[in-house]
Amino acid sequence: MLNGVDLIIVGAGFYGATLAERVATKLGRRVLVIDRRAHIGGNAYTETDAATGVEIHRYGPHLFHTSNKDVWDYLRAFTRFTSYRHRAFSSYRDQVYSLPINLATICQFFGRRFSPDQARAMIAEQASELGDRPPANLEEKAISLIGRPLYEAFIRGYTAKQWQTDPRELPPQIIARLPVRYTFEDGYFNDRFQGQPLEGYTAIFEKMLAHPLIETRLGVDFFDIKGSIPKNMPIAYTGAIDRYFDYAEGDLGWRTIDIEFEHMNTPDHQGTAIMNYADEAVPYTRIVEFRHFNPERDLSREKTLIGREFSRFARRGDEPYYPIDTRADQKIYDRYQTRARQGADNTHFGGRLGTYRYLDMHQAIGAALKAFETVFVPYFEGRLDTVSARSRPA
Ligand code: FAD
Ligand code: UDP
Repeated sequence: MLNGVDLIIVGAGFYGATLAERVATKLGRRVLVIDRRAHIGGNAYTETDAATGVEIHRYGPHLFHTSNKDVWDYLRAFTRFTSYRHRAFSSYRDQVYSLPINLATICQFFGRRFSPDQARAMIAEQASELGDRPPANLEEKAISLIGRPLYEAFIRGYTAKQWQTDPRELPPQIIARLPVRYTFEDGYFNDRFQGQPLEGYTAIFEKMLAHPLIETRLGVDFFDIKGSIPKNMPIAYTGAIDRYFDYAEGDLGWRTIDIEFEHMNTPDHQGTAIMNYADEAVPYTRIVEFRHFNPERDLSREKTLIGREFSRFARRGDEPYYPIDTRADQKIYDRYQTRARQGADNTHFGGRLGTYRYLDMHQAIGAALKAFETVFVPYFEGRLDTVSARSRPA
Protein backbone atom coordinates (compact mmCIF):
# COMPACT_ATOMS: atom_id res chain seq x y z
CA MET A 1 0.00 0.00 0.00
CA LEU A 2 2.88 2.37 0.78
CA ASN A 3 5.05 1.57 -2.24
CA GLY A 4 6.09 4.70 -4.14
CA VAL A 5 3.93 6.95 -1.95
CA ASP A 6 5.28 10.49 -1.40
CA LEU A 7 2.65 11.70 1.07
CA ILE A 8 0.05 10.04 3.31
CA ILE A 9 -3.09 12.01 4.03
CA VAL A 10 -5.26 10.89 6.93
CA GLY A 11 -8.87 11.93 6.28
CA ALA A 12 -10.82 12.34 3.03
CA GLY A 13 -12.71 15.48 4.12
CA PHE A 14 -12.29 18.88 2.49
CA TYR A 15 -8.89 19.54 4.05
CA GLY A 16 -7.42 16.19 3.05
CA ALA A 17 -9.02 16.06 -0.41
CA THR A 18 -7.90 19.59 -1.30
CA LEU A 19 -4.34 18.91 -0.22
CA ALA A 20 -4.27 15.57 -2.07
CA GLU A 21 -5.59 17.15 -5.27
CA ARG A 22 -3.04 20.00 -5.17
CA VAL A 23 -0.03 17.81 -4.37
CA ALA A 24 -0.93 15.34 -7.15
CA THR A 25 -1.92 17.91 -9.77
CA LYS A 26 0.64 20.63 -9.12
CA LEU A 27 3.63 18.67 -7.83
CA GLY A 28 3.12 15.35 -9.61
CA ARG A 29 3.62 13.44 -6.35
CA ARG A 30 1.93 10.17 -5.38
CA VAL A 31 -0.56 10.56 -2.56
CA LEU A 32 -2.22 7.92 -0.43
CA VAL A 33 -5.45 9.13 1.21
CA ILE A 34 -6.87 6.95 3.97
CA ASP A 35 -10.10 7.33 5.90
CA ARG A 36 -11.47 5.12 8.60
CA ARG A 37 -15.01 5.63 7.34
CA ALA A 38 -16.44 3.61 4.45
CA HIS A 39 -16.85 6.73 2.30
CA ILE A 40 -15.05 9.89 1.19
CA GLY A 41 -16.21 13.45 1.97
CA GLY A 42 -15.71 13.65 5.74
CA ASN A 43 -18.61 15.36 7.45
CA ALA A 44 -19.72 16.93 4.16
CA TYR A 45 -20.64 13.49 2.76
CA THR A 46 -24.06 13.26 1.09
CA GLU A 47 -25.99 10.42 -0.55
CA THR A 48 -29.35 9.94 -2.26
CA ASP A 49 -32.26 8.65 -0.19
CA ALA A 50 -33.90 5.83 -2.18
CA ALA A 51 -37.41 6.45 -0.80
CA THR A 52 -37.68 10.13 -1.72
CA GLY A 53 -34.77 10.93 -4.04
CA VAL A 54 -33.61 13.71 -1.69
CA GLU A 55 -29.97 14.23 -0.92
CA ILE A 56 -29.26 13.31 2.69
CA HIS A 57 -26.50 15.14 4.48
CA ARG A 58 -25.57 12.20 6.70
CA TYR A 59 -23.64 14.25 9.30
CA GLY A 60 -25.91 17.30 9.35
CA PRO A 61 -26.89 19.95 6.81
CA HIS A 62 -24.09 21.56 4.81
CA LEU A 63 -24.53 24.90 3.07
CA PHE A 64 -21.75 26.31 0.99
CA HIS A 65 -20.93 29.99 1.40
CA THR A 66 -17.74 32.03 1.08
CA SER A 67 -16.44 35.46 0.25
CA ASN A 68 -13.05 34.02 -0.64
CA LYS A 69 -12.83 34.21 -4.44
CA ASP A 70 -9.83 31.87 -4.62
CA VAL A 71 -11.76 29.14 -2.79
CA TRP A 72 -14.87 29.72 -4.89
CA ASP A 73 -12.89 29.54 -8.14
CA TYR A 74 -11.00 26.48 -6.96
CA LEU A 75 -14.12 24.55 -6.03
CA ARG A 76 -15.92 25.44 -9.24
CA ALA A 77 -13.37 23.34 -11.11
CA PHE A 78 -15.11 20.33 -9.50
CA THR A 79 -18.78 21.32 -9.42
CA ARG A 80 -21.42 23.74 -10.56
CA PHE A 81 -23.50 25.43 -7.88
CA THR A 82 -27.26 26.05 -7.72
CA SER A 83 -28.56 29.51 -6.83
CA TYR A 84 -29.79 28.30 -3.40
CA ARG A 85 -29.58 31.01 -0.74
CA HIS A 86 -30.22 29.83 2.77
CA ARG A 87 -32.96 31.25 5.00
CA ALA A 88 -33.72 29.90 8.45
CA PHE A 89 -36.42 30.25 11.06
CA SER A 90 -36.71 29.87 14.79
CA SER A 91 -39.73 28.50 16.60
CA TYR A 92 -40.22 30.09 20.05
CA ARG A 93 -43.35 29.70 22.20
CA ASP A 94 -45.41 28.51 19.24
CA GLN A 95 -44.50 31.44 17.01
CA VAL A 96 -42.15 31.33 14.03
CA TYR A 97 -39.53 34.07 13.61
CA SER A 98 -37.04 34.86 10.88
CA LEU A 99 -33.34 34.12 11.55
CA PRO A 100 -30.72 35.51 11.77
CA ILE A 101 -32.20 38.26 13.90
CA ASN A 102 -33.22 41.04 11.54
CA LEU A 103 -35.71 43.88 11.51
CA ALA A 104 -38.61 41.49 10.81
CA THR A 105 -37.64 39.41 13.87
CA ILE A 106 -37.39 42.53 16.04
CA CYS A 107 -40.75 43.98 14.89
CA GLN A 108 -42.53 40.64 15.39
CA PHE A 109 -40.93 39.95 18.76
CA PHE A 110 -41.66 43.37 20.26
CA GLY A 111 -45.07 43.55 18.53
CA ARG A 112 -44.67 46.85 16.70
CA ARG A 113 -43.03 48.57 13.74
CA PHE A 114 -39.43 49.77 14.22
CA SER A 115 -37.34 51.80 11.81
CA PRO A 116 -33.67 50.75 11.61
CA ASP A 117 -32.68 53.73 13.81
CA GLN A 118 -35.35 53.00 16.40
CA ALA A 119 -34.36 49.33 16.56
CA ARG A 120 -30.68 50.21 16.91
CA ALA A 121 -31.41 52.68 19.71
CA MET A 122 -33.54 50.15 21.59
CA ILE A 123 -30.94 47.37 21.33
CA ALA A 124 -28.12 49.79 22.30
CA GLU A 125 -30.11 50.71 25.40
CA GLN A 126 -30.62 47.04 26.28
CA ALA A 127 -26.96 46.22 25.59
CA SER A 128 -25.75 49.04 27.85
CA GLU A 129 -25.98 46.76 30.88
CA LEU A 130 -22.43 45.65 30.06
CA GLY A 131 -20.97 49.16 30.38
CA ASP A 132 -17.71 49.72 28.49
CA ARG A 133 -16.32 46.27 29.21
CA PRO A 134 -15.61 44.18 26.07
CA PRO A 135 -17.73 40.99 26.08
CA ALA A 136 -15.78 38.16 27.70
CA ASN A 137 -17.99 35.20 26.81
CA LEU A 138 -20.87 34.07 24.60
CA GLU A 139 -23.62 35.46 26.86
CA GLU A 140 -22.03 38.91 27.10
CA LYS A 141 -21.27 38.96 23.39
CA ALA A 142 -24.89 38.06 22.54
CA ILE A 143 -26.27 40.73 24.90
CA SER A 144 -23.91 43.30 23.37
CA LEU A 145 -25.26 42.41 19.91
CA ILE A 146 -28.99 41.96 20.51
CA GLY A 147 -29.84 42.89 24.12
CA ARG A 148 -31.10 40.60 26.86
CA PRO A 149 -34.76 39.96 25.79
CA LEU A 150 -33.81 38.63 22.33
CA TYR A 151 -30.86 36.75 23.86
CA GLU A 152 -33.11 35.03 26.37
CA ALA A 153 -35.67 34.10 23.71
CA PHE A 154 -33.55 32.94 20.78
CA ILE A 155 -30.06 32.22 22.08
CA ARG A 156 -30.03 31.08 25.68
CA GLY A 157 -32.21 27.97 25.39
CA TYR A 158 -30.89 26.97 21.98
CA THR A 159 -27.27 27.40 23.06
CA ALA A 160 -27.89 25.46 26.28
CA LYS A 161 -29.25 22.55 24.20
CA GLN A 162 -26.56 22.83 21.58
CA TRP A 163 -23.52 23.17 23.82
CA GLN A 164 -24.64 21.86 27.24
CA THR A 165 -22.19 24.36 28.62
CA ASP A 166 -22.91 27.57 30.53
CA PRO A 167 -22.92 30.35 27.86
CA ARG A 168 -20.66 32.30 30.21
CA GLU A 169 -18.03 29.58 29.74
CA LEU A 170 -18.26 29.60 25.94
CA PRO A 171 -16.04 31.80 23.77
CA PRO A 172 -17.69 34.96 22.33
CA GLN A 173 -16.74 34.11 18.74
CA ILE A 174 -19.32 31.28 18.53
CA ILE A 175 -22.10 33.82 18.48
CA ALA A 176 -20.21 36.33 16.35
CA ARG A 177 -20.79 33.82 13.52
CA LEU A 178 -24.47 34.83 13.46
CA PRO A 179 -25.10 38.16 11.75
CA VAL A 180 -27.57 40.68 13.25
CA ARG A 181 -29.24 43.02 10.79
CA TYR A 182 -31.16 46.24 11.06
CA THR A 183 -32.76 45.62 7.68
CA PHE A 184 -35.36 43.15 6.43
CA GLU A 185 -32.63 41.15 4.63
CA ASP A 186 -33.23 37.59 5.85
CA GLY A 187 -30.51 35.53 4.11
CA TYR A 188 -28.64 33.41 6.66
CA PHE A 189 -25.17 34.23 5.33
CA ASN A 190 -23.61 37.52 4.30
CA ASP A 191 -21.16 35.90 1.88
CA ARG A 192 -20.74 36.92 -1.75
CA PHE A 193 -20.74 33.38 -3.11
CA GLN A 194 -23.40 30.89 -2.05
CA GLY A 195 -25.12 27.82 -3.46
CA GLN A 196 -25.45 24.06 -3.22
CA PRO A 197 -23.37 21.76 -5.45
CA LEU A 198 -25.60 20.69 -8.33
CA GLU A 199 -24.81 16.99 -8.02
CA GLY A 200 -24.27 16.92 -4.26
CA TYR A 201 -21.18 17.15 -2.07
CA THR A 202 -19.89 13.61 -2.55
CA ALA A 203 -19.56 14.17 -6.31
CA ILE A 204 -17.08 16.99 -5.57
CA PHE A 205 -14.84 14.60 -3.64
CA GLU A 206 -15.07 11.95 -6.36
CA LYS A 207 -13.71 14.49 -8.84
CA MET A 208 -11.04 15.85 -6.50
CA LEU A 209 -9.71 12.39 -5.72
CA ALA A 210 -9.97 11.03 -9.29
CA HIS A 211 -6.37 12.03 -10.17
CA PRO A 212 -4.30 8.97 -11.22
CA LEU A 213 -1.58 9.85 -8.69
CA ILE A 214 -4.07 9.66 -5.81
CA GLU A 215 -4.98 6.35 -4.23
CA THR A 216 -7.84 6.35 -1.72
CA ARG A 217 -8.22 3.56 0.82
CA LEU A 218 -11.40 3.53 2.88
CA GLY A 219 -12.09 1.70 6.13
CA VAL A 220 -8.45 2.17 7.17
CA ASP A 221 -7.72 3.65 10.60
CA PHE A 222 -4.42 5.51 10.74
CA PHE A 223 -3.60 4.08 14.15
CA ASP A 224 -3.81 0.55 12.77
CA ILE A 225 -1.13 1.22 10.13
CA LYS A 226 0.98 3.84 11.93
CA GLY A 227 3.56 1.27 13.04
CA SER A 228 4.24 0.20 9.45
CA ILE A 229 4.85 3.72 8.09
CA PRO A 230 8.54 4.50 7.40
CA LYS A 231 10.01 7.04 9.84
CA ASN A 232 10.43 10.02 7.55
CA MET A 233 7.28 9.63 5.47
CA PRO A 234 5.44 13.00 5.40
CA ILE A 235 1.93 12.73 6.83
CA ALA A 236 -0.95 15.20 6.78
CA TYR A 237 -3.21 14.22 9.66
CA THR A 238 -6.77 15.62 9.80
CA GLY A 239 -8.13 13.47 12.65
CA ALA A 240 -8.53 14.67 16.24
CA ILE A 241 -5.27 16.01 17.69
CA ASP A 242 -5.91 14.65 21.21
CA ARG A 243 -6.38 11.16 19.78
CA TYR A 244 -3.09 11.48 17.87
CA PHE A 245 -1.17 11.97 21.12
CA ASP A 246 -3.19 9.27 22.86
CA TYR A 247 -4.86 11.89 25.06
CA ALA A 248 -1.55 12.42 26.91
CA GLU A 249 -2.37 16.08 27.68
CA GLY A 250 -6.03 15.38 28.49
CA ASP A 251 -9.24 15.06 26.46
CA LEU A 252 -10.31 18.07 24.43
CA GLY A 253 -14.02 18.97 24.70
CA TRP A 254 -16.02 18.12 21.57
CA ARG A 255 -19.70 18.17 20.85
CA THR A 256 -21.39 15.63 18.63
CA ILE A 257 -24.86 15.41 17.07
CA ASP A 258 -27.27 12.49 16.88
CA ILE A 259 -29.67 12.84 13.98
CA GLU A 260 -33.00 11.03 14.10
CA PHE A 261 -34.05 10.57 10.46
CA GLU A 262 -37.72 10.00 9.66
CA HIS A 263 -39.80 9.67 6.50
CA MET A 264 -43.00 11.66 6.75
CA ASN A 265 -46.07 10.83 4.68
CA THR A 266 -46.45 14.28 3.23
CA PRO A 267 -44.58 16.06 0.45
CA ASP A 268 -43.72 18.97 2.75
CA HIS A 269 -43.34 18.71 6.51
CA GLN A 270 -42.33 22.24 7.49
CA GLY A 271 -42.17 24.40 4.37
CA THR A 272 -38.47 25.24 4.77
CA ALA A 273 -35.08 23.55 5.06
CA ILE A 274 -34.20 24.36 8.68
CA MET A 275 -36.43 25.18 11.64
CA ASN A 276 -34.59 25.90 14.89
CA TYR A 277 -36.35 25.29 18.19
CA ALA A 278 -35.39 27.92 20.73
CA ASP A 279 -37.48 26.57 23.62
CA GLU A 280 -35.40 24.56 26.06
CA ALA A 281 -38.33 22.17 26.66
CA VAL A 282 -38.12 20.88 23.06
CA PRO A 283 -35.36 18.25 23.25
CA TYR A 284 -33.95 18.70 19.74
CA THR A 285 -32.20 21.84 18.51
CA ARG A 286 -33.60 21.86 15.01
CA ILE A 287 -35.41 19.93 12.28
CA VAL A 288 -33.87 19.70 8.83
CA GLU A 289 -36.06 18.91 5.83
CA PHE A 290 -33.61 17.97 3.11
CA ARG A 291 -35.80 18.40 0.01
CA HIS A 292 -35.78 22.19 0.46
CA PHE A 293 -32.02 22.34 -0.19
CA ASN A 294 -32.69 21.26 -3.77
CA PRO A 295 -35.84 22.99 -5.03
CA GLU A 296 -34.53 22.47 -8.57
CA ARG A 297 -34.95 18.67 -8.33
CA ASP A 298 -37.97 16.57 -9.16
CA LEU A 299 -38.58 14.71 -5.88
CA SER A 300 -41.19 12.40 -4.35
CA ARG A 301 -44.65 13.95 -4.06
CA GLU A 302 -45.74 11.48 -1.38
CA LYS A 303 -42.96 11.49 1.15
CA THR A 304 -40.34 13.75 2.62
CA LEU A 305 -37.28 13.06 4.77
CA ILE A 306 -36.58 15.01 7.93
CA GLY A 307 -33.83 14.87 10.55
CA ARG A 308 -34.17 15.95 14.18
CA GLU A 309 -30.86 17.00 15.68
CA PHE A 310 -29.89 16.22 19.26
CA SER A 311 -26.64 17.60 20.52
CA ARG A 312 -24.44 16.10 23.22
CA PHE A 313 -20.89 15.85 24.50
CA ALA A 314 -18.72 13.51 22.47
CA ARG A 315 -17.12 10.69 24.37
CA ARG A 316 -14.00 8.92 23.14
CA GLY A 317 -15.08 6.83 20.16
CA ASP A 318 -17.91 9.21 19.14
CA GLU A 319 -17.53 11.36 16.04
CA PRO A 320 -16.19 14.68 17.35
CA TYR A 321 -18.05 17.48 15.50
CA TYR A 322 -17.59 20.84 17.17
CA PRO A 323 -14.70 21.96 19.39
CA ILE A 324 -16.22 23.38 22.59
CA ASP A 325 -13.10 25.47 23.14
CA THR A 326 -13.56 26.58 26.75
CA ARG A 327 -10.58 28.23 28.43
CA ALA A 328 -9.57 24.85 29.89
CA ASP A 329 -9.73 23.34 26.36
CA GLN A 330 -7.53 26.11 25.00
CA LYS A 331 -4.83 25.30 27.59
CA ILE A 332 -4.96 21.61 26.68
CA TYR A 333 -4.83 22.44 22.98
CA ASP A 334 -1.79 24.68 23.49
CA ARG A 335 0.04 21.74 25.06
CA TYR A 336 -0.81 19.51 22.09
CA GLN A 337 0.36 22.21 19.73
CA THR A 338 3.69 22.35 21.54
CA ARG A 339 4.01 18.58 21.15
CA ALA A 340 3.09 18.85 17.46
CA ARG A 341 5.83 21.44 16.92
CA GLN A 342 8.46 19.56 18.86
CA GLY A 343 7.54 16.09 17.66
CA ALA A 344 10.15 14.16 15.76
CA ASP A 345 7.47 12.87 13.34
CA ASN A 346 7.21 14.41 9.90
CA THR A 347 3.52 15.17 10.51
CA HIS A 348 1.38 18.16 9.59
CA PHE A 349 -1.87 18.72 11.52
CA GLY A 350 -4.71 20.18 9.51
CA GLY A 351 -8.46 20.57 9.25
CA ARG A 352 -11.10 21.03 11.87
CA LEU A 353 -10.18 18.09 14.07
CA GLY A 354 -6.43 18.41 13.66
CA THR A 355 -6.36 22.09 14.63
CA TYR A 356 -9.28 22.04 17.11
CA ARG A 357 -11.00 24.86 15.34
CA TYR A 358 -14.52 25.31 14.01
CA LEU A 359 -13.82 25.62 10.30
CA ASP A 360 -16.55 25.98 7.71
CA MET A 361 -16.01 24.13 4.46
CA HIS A 362 -14.58 27.16 2.68
CA GLN A 363 -12.19 27.75 5.59
CA ALA A 364 -11.02 24.13 5.55
CA ILE A 365 -10.39 24.40 1.79
CA GLY A 366 -8.71 27.82 2.19
CA ALA A 367 -6.47 26.50 4.98
CA ALA A 368 -5.47 23.49 2.85
CA LEU A 369 -4.66 25.71 -0.15
CA LYS A 370 -2.52 27.85 2.13
CA ALA A 371 -0.74 24.88 3.69
CA PHE A 372 -0.06 23.57 0.20
CA GLU A 373 1.73 26.82 -0.74
CA THR A 374 3.51 27.48 2.56
CA VAL A 375 4.40 23.96 3.71
CA PHE A 376 4.08 21.31 1.00
CA VAL A 377 5.52 23.18 -1.99
CA PRO A 378 8.64 24.22 -0.02
CA TYR A 379 8.92 20.73 1.48
CA PHE A 380 8.80 18.91 -1.86
CA GLU A 381 11.14 21.47 -3.39
CA GLY A 382 13.64 20.74 -0.60
CA ARG A 383 13.34 24.11 1.13
CA LEU A 384 11.74 22.71 4.32
CA ASP A 385 13.02 19.72 6.28
CA THR A 386 9.65 18.57 7.58
CA VAL A 387 5.95 19.24 7.02
CA SER A 388 5.37 19.66 10.75
CA ALA A 389 6.61 23.27 10.81
CA ARG A 390 3.21 24.81 11.41
CA SER A 391 -0.05 23.43 12.71
CA ARG A 392 -2.96 25.74 13.60
CA PRO A 393 -3.76 28.01 10.62
CA ALA A 394 -2.89 31.66 11.23
P1 FAD B 1 -13.76 16.29 8.25
O1 FAD B 1 -14.77 16.53 7.20
O2 FAD B 1 -14.22 15.99 9.64
O3 FAD B 1 -12.81 15.10 7.74
C1 FAD B 1 -11.89 14.44 8.57
C2 FAD B 1 -11.82 12.98 8.13
O4 FAD B 1 -10.75 12.34 8.83
C3 FAD B 1 -13.09 12.19 8.44
O5 FAD B 1 -13.62 11.62 7.26
C4 FAD B 1 -12.63 11.12 9.43
O6 FAD B 1 -13.29 9.87 9.25
C5 FAD B 1 -11.14 11.01 9.09
N1 FAD B 1 -10.37 10.48 10.20
C6 FAD B 1 -10.32 10.94 11.47
N2 FAD B 1 -9.50 10.17 12.21
C7 FAD B 1 -9.01 9.21 11.39
C8 FAD B 1 -8.14 8.11 11.58
N3 FAD B 1 -7.59 7.84 12.78
N4 FAD B 1 -7.84 7.32 10.52
C9 FAD B 1 -8.40 7.55 9.30
N5 FAD B 1 -9.26 8.58 9.08
C10 FAD B 1 -9.56 9.39 10.11
N6 FAD B 1 -19.50 23.96 6.96
C11 FAD B 1 -20.03 24.87 6.10
O7 FAD B 1 -19.28 25.53 5.36
N7 FAD B 1 -21.38 25.05 6.00
C12 FAD B 1 -22.25 24.34 6.76
O8 FAD B 1 -23.47 24.52 6.64
C13 FAD B 1 -21.73 23.38 7.68
N8 FAD B 1 -22.56 22.67 8.46
C14 FAD B 1 -22.05 21.73 9.30
C15 FAD B 1 -22.94 20.98 10.06
C16 FAD B 1 -22.45 20.00 10.91
C17 FAD B 1 -23.42 19.20 11.73
C18 FAD B 1 -21.04 19.79 11.01
C19 FAD B 1 -20.50 18.73 11.94
C20 FAD B 1 -20.16 20.54 10.27
C21 FAD B 1 -20.65 21.54 9.42
N9 FAD B 1 -19.79 22.29 8.62
C22 FAD B 1 -20.32 23.22 7.75
C23 FAD B 1 -18.34 22.16 8.73
C24 FAD B 1 -17.75 21.17 7.73
O9 FAD B 1 -18.22 19.87 8.00
C25 FAD B 1 -16.23 21.24 7.87
O10 FAD B 1 -15.76 22.49 7.48
C26 FAD B 1 -15.47 20.22 7.04
O11 FAD B 1 -15.99 18.94 7.24
C27 FAD B 1 -14.02 20.26 7.45
O12 FAD B 1 -13.29 19.35 6.70
P2 FAD B 1 -12.08 18.55 7.37
O13 FAD B 1 -11.41 17.86 6.24
O14 FAD B 1 -11.27 19.45 8.22
O15 FAD B 1 -12.75 17.51 8.40
N1 UDP C 1 -27.57 30.08 17.94
C1 UDP C 1 -28.63 30.26 18.79
N2 UDP C 1 -29.90 30.20 18.30
C2 UDP C 1 -30.16 29.93 17.00
C3 UDP C 1 -29.07 29.74 16.13
C4 UDP C 1 -27.78 29.80 16.63
O1 UDP C 1 -28.43 30.48 19.98
O2 UDP C 1 -31.35 29.87 16.62
C5 UDP C 1 -26.20 30.16 18.51
C6 UDP C 1 -25.67 28.79 18.95
O3 UDP C 1 -24.90 28.97 20.14
C7 UDP C 1 -24.82 28.38 17.78
C8 UDP C 1 -24.23 29.71 17.32
O4 UDP C 1 -25.31 30.64 17.51
O5 UDP C 1 -23.82 27.47 18.15
C9 UDP C 1 -23.77 29.72 15.87
O6 UDP C 1 -24.85 29.39 15.01
P1 UDP C 1 -24.69 28.52 13.72
O7 UDP C 1 -25.95 28.50 12.97
O8 UDP C 1 -23.44 28.95 13.03
O9 UDP C 1 -24.56 27.10 14.41
P2 UDP C 1 -23.65 25.84 14.30
O10 UDP C 1 -22.77 25.93 13.09
O11 UDP C 1 -22.92 25.85 15.60
O12 UDP C 1 -24.65 24.73 14.19
